[in-house]
Amino acid sequence: MVTTVYQEKSFRENVNLVFDIAAATLEISGGLAYVLKGAYNVYQVRFPVKIDGKIESFIGWRAVHSEHKLPTKGGIRFSPLVTQDEVEALAALMTYKCALVDVPYGGSKGGLVVDPKKYDDAVMERITRRFAFELIKKNYINPAINVPAPDMGTGPREMAWIADTYMQHRTDDINGLGCVTGKPLSLSGIPGRTEATGRGVVYGIREFFRHAEDKKLAGLEGTLEGKTVIVQGLGNVGYHTAKILESEDGAKIIGIIESDGALMDRNGLSVETINTYKKEHGVAKGFPDAQFFENGDAILEEECDILVPAALEGVIHLENAPRIKAKLIAEAANGPVTFGADAILRQKGVVMIPDIYLNAGGVIVSYFEWIKNLSHIRFGRLTRRYDVNQNDLLLKVLESNGHKIPPAISEELCNGPNELDFVRTGLDDSMREAFQQIRDRFWSHEKIESYRIAAMAIAIEKIAISYQDRGVYP
Ligand code: NAD
Repeated sequence: MVTTVYQEKSFRENVNLVFDIAAATLEISGGLAYVLKGAYNVYQVRFPVKIDGKIESFIGWRAVHSEHKLPTKGGIRFSPLVTQDEVEALAALMTYKCALVDVPYGGSKGGLVVDPKKYDDAVMERITRRFAFELIKKNYINPAINVPAPDMGTGPREMAWIADTYMQHRTDDINGLGCVTGKPLSLSGIPGRTEATGRGVVYGIREFFRHAEDKKLAGLEGTLEGKTVIVQGLGNVGYHTAKILESEDGAKIIGIIESDGALMDRNGLSVETINTYKKEHGVAKGFPDAQFFENGDAILEEECDILVPAALEGVIHLENAPRIKAKLIAEAANGPVTFGADAILRQKGVVMIPDIYLNAGGVIVSYFEWIKNLSHIRFGRLTRRYDVNQNDLLLKVLESNGHKIPPAISEELCNGPNELDFVRTGLDDSMREAFQQIRDRFWSHEKIESYRIAAMAIAIEKIAISYQDRGVYP
């Protein structure tokens, strides 16, 4: 049964409505629920930067949603459309996301109102370093207290500037490099971080496809091979999701929606070719090997097996939800489906894999990077050669007893795992386990009508237990 359709609310209110429904399926006190719902604190900064001889003023926020675990964690978004409400909503999602996938962090998020496309690299560096300094001054960036990561409009480059700014100001902090994750490899980043959110999205979809009962809910069967997919946003998350689905799972990417319009080809698009074109031209328009649609949003409504919104929040709403024809919505972006749209889609039988689970790959691998930074050693450095020697010994014993080992297998055993192998298998394991918890809760609890509510209920429960166990119980 599907409940009331609410009017559209703000992003933060949408998150809170999901919270209320999920909390009602649990036995937690109203006081604790109140604490878990609101932002713990929000810091607003306004600072000047001299650009081409003129002073320009910038405004930004860092919201901390919950400090039940430290450090708090969450990306920094650069966009002309960032608002405080959005930053608070995203900080709340981080709290629930980390709890759900057992990453020991509280939730935080930052945003700066800036259009990175408007400025050259040198100016962006000055703006980023100044924003970072404002946050460092008040401990809103610190490896033990608050650790940002990339989000929309930011990437390894910005993280490198932030890490460097931190270390210029806190020269005695031996763990300084852990003040931010998503850094380039040269600054103790971790292999696989850039692709992590997209790869995590794919691991989550693969895990869904392992369960026949769940696929049936969406009217799907079989494997990902040949499934039709439409992706919105060919940025970090959308590109890696689309690329991996196409190249490793044999899915057919039939639509790519970008900010200037959409490309469609029901026979399948080449993600890499479009990505190269977009990098060269800055737009999707003009790409020669697909049909172009000026009104990109309309392509969200095209028939497909899987729709992957990987750009912005609130793109599937009360108005367009009745026309969505996808069987499965894989929420790679944060908050792409509004609370009202969620109810309409469920009524239509559309299954949604929710954001707080599906895009957690970024923070999971950020966690690995932070551990690497605190331990000052790359994963496997102490054990790899030992493992290889052991495998070598085992192969020799097997061969001396007449067993023939296929060359590909013996080669893999003799190479041993590298850091990327550890990152990918660690990510895969976390995504599988969290989905299994979500589907267990969904199938076993009669009041829980969606994976979204199941995921949120599990997250709230874990946070509530951590408060109760340490005696902080309002
Ligand atoms: P990004 O800036 O790398 O990419 C966003 C892409 O969306 C860009 O290609 C942009 O041109 C496109 N876009 C913007 N407006 C659009 C519109 N109206 N229609 C279609 N496309 C549009 O950002 P990202 O890091 O890939 O983040 C995308 C989403 O994923 C966000 O909701 C973000 O919060 C979420 N997310 C990101 C990460 C991460 O590790 N980067 C982790 C978790 C969640």
